[in-house]
This record gives sequence, structure tokens and C-alpha cells, in this order.
Amino acid sequence: MTHPTRPIGPYERQPAEVLPWDPRTLVVAETVTTLVRERRPDLVVEHIGSTAVPGLPGKGIVDLLIPTEPVDVPAVTALLLDLGFGPQPGEDPFPPTRPLLVGSLVVDGTTFKIHCHVQPRGEEMVRDLAFRDALRADPELVKAYAELKTEIVAGGYNQSYQYTYRKQAWIADVHRRLGVRRRPIGPPATIGILGGGQLGRMLGQAARSMGYRVAILDPDPDCPAAAVADELVLGSYDDVGAALRLADVSTVITYELEHVASDVVGALEARLPVRPGRYPLVSTQDRIAERHFIERTGAAVAPWREVRTEADLQAAATALGLPLRLKAATGGYDGRGQIRIATTEELDDALERLGRPAGAVLLAESELTFRAELSIVVARGPDGEIASFPVARNVHDEGILSESVAPAPIPDAVAHRATKIGQDLATAMGLCGTLTAELFWLEDDSIVVNELAPRVHNSGHWTLDGAETSQFEQHIRAITGLGLGSPAALSPTAVVNLLGTGPNRDAHLAGLGDALSDPSVHLHLYDKRRVFDRRKMGHVAAIGADVDIALERARLARAALHWEGGS
Ligand code: ADP
Ligand code: MG
Repeated sequence: MTHPTRPIGPYERQPAEVLPWDPRTLVVAETVTTLVRERRPDLVVEHIGSTAVPGLPGKGIVDLLIPTEPVDVPAVTALLLDLGFGPQPGEDPFPPTRPLLVGSLVVDGTTFKIHCHVQPRGEEMVRDLAFRDALRADPELVKAYAELKTEIVAGGYNQSYQYTYRKQAWIADVHRRLGVRRRPIGPPATIGILGGGQLGRMLGQAARSMGYRVAILDPDPDCPAAAVADELVLGSYDDVGAALRLADVSTVITYELEHVASDVVGALEARLPVRPGRYPLVSTQDRIAERHFIERTGAAVAPWREVRTEADLQAAATALGLPLRLKAATGGYDGRGQIRIATTEELDDALERLGRPAGAVLLAESELTFRAELSIVVARGPDGEIASFPVARNVHDEGILSESVAPAPIPDAVAHRATKIGQDLATAMGLCGTLTAELFWLEDDSIVVNELAPRVHNSGHWTLDGAETSQFEQHIRAITGLGLGSPAALSPTAVVNLLGTGPNRDAHLAGLGDALSDPSVHLHLYDKRRVFDRRKMGHVAAIGADVDIALERARLARAALHWEGGS
């Protein structure tokens, strides 16, 4: 029952179906328009989406758009709430600066769902209206769109990401033809990067070579990215004030690490585009949230349990068996923040050994035996354009990446499956930027997702020397909307990481002459001032006729190098 002063009913999520166009959706749009304009005659309510185009099949949801000035967004939102609309449900709602409100209306005994977008006047609104008007004017376009849409019915749940991807690409193409394509953020705009480590440095280098300016936020004035920054803002990754100072000088913000406080991203998103946004961050920075996210897309993960207490851990061991991996839900990287539990004795002091505060959320999961560890780096632009680099095969040493080769010497079918997993995850995340999926290729030929990073990744470093477009250039092209470059490999390539050895001291690398005597070897150092045991200091890359030859060259180069004063 609807409240007399709240004519709009509640919104219930149901499985989506593609239905023929229903003329009653026009009545719904008309009714909401009247309700809104009774209270605010100055507002215009535009009917957009599939139901706004007679004859176009769709999910039957009535999409409405109220163009507003940014300052008026809260008042319009309040008006809609007052009519009975509710906030957008789900994990990844639109931001309060451009909210979506949801509700329903009954016409002739049928309940119609309503999406009401409150949108500041601008590019997005212009595109939505131009797309609708083009459909209304062109029956051929309606036919082509309808054909594309009906494929969602044929495909299963998993297929729906492929559908979203194809639909977005199709719509982007129409936008292009209509001349309302999203304008890229062109040089010399400033790209703000949260984090000044080696990934920030290499992102900055790529951005600079395209003519962008670079601003970096990092707590360390001597961080690796400082040398490529036009502007360095000193502050920690949870310092909202520092992040807003970064925003003051930037046109778009990205991040090179996922340990950024989501408050920081929230505050930034109200001011400028943050790519990838808050949702890719929150669905990957916590291992439990990440497991839930991956499972929702239909991809597989190792059997797991959430653990907070010793009793939980015992129960997990009983359910999953040993060996187990016990991982802190947040803050771990490069094998830190996790331990292996092989025997029942090791269960007893496992929580102590992990060294997390009592009650911290942990993830216990089965240790899997794999044929190989793989990773896939996928880039996705603001309109859904996707490009995937060839799959890499990785070897870790105590949790830290040691060697990586690409294209991985695996059957094509495995590479295709890995690529599809990466693309589905990126699409499901609504990603704009780069996503890396770390994968296990198991004995039974199945692929399990181990970990996600909504960013460039160590296992993608081979692209600097071995691909047409590097992952760093690709990330910058994705977040600026420049259009993606070809991810194709130019050559089989291997990367071997240069890890620190010995105690904490000034960093001096010796043996360079010998290491670089092979002309197919390339040196990448991150200019870290101090070296210590197992710190990622740089990498060597080598190309070769196949990945084994490339790997042999890179290994030889590494063997010739050592950190002075170390072991
Ligand atoms: P990090 O954030 O430190 O990279 P990961 O969860 O990726 O953490 O673990 C690091 C490495 O440890 C993996 O690349 C893999 O080699 C090994 N590992 C982690 N989890 C498992 C598991 N469930 N089974 C087998 N090996 C694992
Ligand atoms: Mg990992």
C-alpha cells in the first residue's frame, strides 16, 4: 500500500527479464513528472532508457532523468524521497553528487519499477538524451539494439557481463556517431596518483611521456615517484586533507595501491573523477569482501572461511582440512600478513604467529596445488572498452613475485578462460582503469582466482619491454578516456625481480656491466634510497625467441647483480 502523501511505492529487486515494450510505462513517466512538477514547476523530468523508446524491448524499468544544477541536487533528492522514492540499493550506488533514487508505481494492477537519476547538467546528460532521441528517430537502430538485448535472455548469469560489455561498447559506438562521445582528459592535465612507490613512478613516467603533468601523494619525500612528480603532496593514504590538496591540483585521480582509506576516495569522488573508483577499491582491499565479490561474478576461489577466534580457526581446519593459508583480511602484501598452517600442532599458535590484534578479521583458505600461477591484466575505459594483455605465468618465492613470463606458455583455451575471468571481473566492478587478477591454474585444469588488484601490477612489468602498449600507458589511457592501445605482445618476455638483501642501508647496485652485457636485457631500477632484505628494488627484463630463452637471460643478468654491503 502506498502512503497518500507518498504516492511512489517501494522498489523490489527481481531477476531481470527482457520483455516487449509496454505503453503503460509512458503513464508511469507522466505520473512521476506530474508529481514532481506539482512541487517544483521549474524542474523537467526526462523519460530516458528503453521504456522511452516505443517498440524497444527491455527490462521494463522506467528510467527518468531530472537535470539539475549541482547545488540543487540535495533539494531534488529530498523531494523525491518525500514522494516515496528510496535510496539506490546495492553495493555500488551512484555518488550523492549524482544520485539514483528508486521506487515503483502500479498501473492497471502491474507494478513498474522506476529509476530516477538526479543529474547535474553536463556531458553524461547530453549523451543520454542524444541516445534516446536517436533511437526514437531511427527504427533500424531500435532493431539492432533490440537484437543485442535479447541475447541477454539466451545467455546465462555469467554471460551477462559479456552482455554488459558488448552493450556498452555498442552504445559508445552510437555516441561516437552522434558526436556526443565523452571528451578525453587531454594533456597537459594533471594526473593525481595516490601512492608514490614504483608503480606510481612508472605510471608517472608513462603519463609524462604523453605530456600530462603528475602529482603524487605519499608520506615519504624521497619516494620512488618523487623524481617524476611535478607536484608532491606529503601525507598518509588515510589523510583526507592531504588527498584534497592533491585534488586541488589534479584533473583526475588514480591510485597505485589498494591500501587507500575508502573515506579518502569518498571525499575525492565528490570533487573530481577517481578512477578506478571507490567500488573497485572496497571490493578488493578486504580479502573477505573480495571473495564475496568474486563469487558473485561466478568465478571460483579456494574453499574459505572467515576466522576471528581460535575456535573459528579450529572449525575452519575441520571443514577445509590442512594445509591452510591464514591471511589477514586487510593490509597484507608480498606474502606479508599471512602464514601457512600444515599440521594440527601449528594450529595452536597460528593466531599468535600471524601477529594480528585479537578479534581481527582473518581469512582461512585451503592451500591449493597448482600447475602454475597465472595473472591477467585487463584495462577498461570509461565507456566499457576493454583490452586484455596476454596472460603472464608467475613464480613466487615465499609470497613475493620472483619471476614472470609472458605470453604464458599455456594452451590457448586456458588463456581464453583466464582472459574471460579478468574481463568479467572488470566489467562487474564497473572498472575504469586497470585490473589485475592473480590466478591459480589447477591440476584438474580449472582456474581459481587468488587475488585482485584494481591497478597495474608487478606481473605486468613485462609490458614495458615486450608489449605494444605498456600497462602503465594503458592505465593512463583508460583513466583519461584516450582510448586503449594494443595490448599485443611484441616478443616473448621475462621479468626477474631485483629484491634487496641484507640489513637496512644505502642502496648501491654492483655488477651492472656484466648484467647488461647481454643486449636483450633491460634494467629497471626504482631509485629506492635504502635497501633491505626482500625489498622490491627493481627488475630486469629480457626478450627472447621463447619465454624460456628470455627467462634464462633475465636470470643470468640478475645473477650478475648484487647490493653492496649485503650477503
Ligand atoms: P599477497 O597479497 O601477499 O600477494 P596472496 O594471497 O596473493 O597475497 O599470496 C601470495 C602467494 O602465496 C601467492 O601468489 C601464492 O604463491 C601463495 N598462496 C597464497 N594463497 C594460496 C593458496 N590458497 N594455495 C596455494 N598457494 C597460495
Ligand atoms: Mg598476491
